[in-house]
Amino acid sequence: RRRAAVLHTRGPGATSDGHRVPLLANVGGPADVPAAVAAGAEGVGLFRTELLFLSGGDRPPEVAEQARVYREVLSAFPGGRVVVRVLDAGADKPLAFLASGATEPNPALGVRGLRALLAHPGVLAGQLAALGEAVAGLPVHLEVMAPMVADRADAKAFAEACRAAGLAASPGAMVEVPAAALRARSLLREVEFLSVGTNDLAQYAFAADRQVGAVSRWQDPWQPALLDLVALAARAAGDEGKGCGVCGEAAADPLLACVLTGLGVTSLSMGAGAIPGVRATLARHTLAQCRRAAEAARAAEGAEGARAAAHGVLSGK
Ligand code: PEP
Ligand code: MG
Repeated sequence: RRRAAVLHTRGPGATSDGHRVPLLANVGGPADVPAAVAAGAEGVGLFRTELLFLSGGDRPPEVAEQARVYREVLSAFPGGRVVVRVLDAGADKPLAFLASGATEPNPALGVRGLRALLAHPGVLAGQLAALGEAVAGLPVHLEVMAPMVADRADAKAFAEACRAAGLAASPGAMVEVPAAALRARSLLREVEFLSVGTNDLAQYAFAADRQVGAVSRWQDPWQPALLDLVALAARAAGDEGKGCGVCGEAAADPLLACVLTGLGVTSLSMGAGAIPGVRATLARHTLAQCRRAAEAARAAEGAEGARAAAHGVLSGK
């Protein structure tokens, strides 16, 4: 018994029958790296770069300063994969030099995320240049993704910016807007991978502001409608032979991590503290069980029903 417990506290993420699901960490900067490494993260699935910028006043940090910070994170995962999200400014993450949210009636529906970067191409170019400097000579697989991609034109603009910067990193799109999940296949004409941000995807799917407590029940990532959207993105990526990760809160729930695996999600990224629990639960179930749990959850009514249905399947009841 002791040996089994030890086996499941480290090592790569996988189902009991060996289907690999890399377990990655969400980080906001170098301060989060030690916990990610201690938890045995196989890399970083979401580096929220805007946290570095929040204290920076009315200008982005210099390219060299950005590169120094990015390199600290990248160098901690030799042989691993690090997915950096370019700035996601606006709404819940205001940045004075990017977001125009203060003057918009609905900042979550305004010029935020990639939209703000495309309106300030110099800021995006600076960030991509800093990433190119940061990764030089490091044995890490760097990927770069854009937040709040709504359609193929967004994905194309981001991939073109990456190419123009000469960055040797695969471009990806976050799936946070329902339209992006519905048309995932067309986004994949432009980018190499998808990563579902379930926090924003829930917000936009249910028209429920993630910052308003009175509508927080729709932030529950077990909502079958949310699972349907994740399934669309994962299936499109699978058909194209590309990856589709999840990096929102959903990935941190061990039972839901099994359901996401059953939906065809190819990696899970979460706060470091959640990794051991997800690893252990995934290791107790086969891929076929995960698929059955996913079907049962999608067939249920409401978040509670979905949770109970998946629990029933995975506990063999
Ligand atoms: C998300 O929206 O699920 C996500 C991962 O991004 P953030 O929480 O930083 O908006
Ligand atoms: Mg988001």
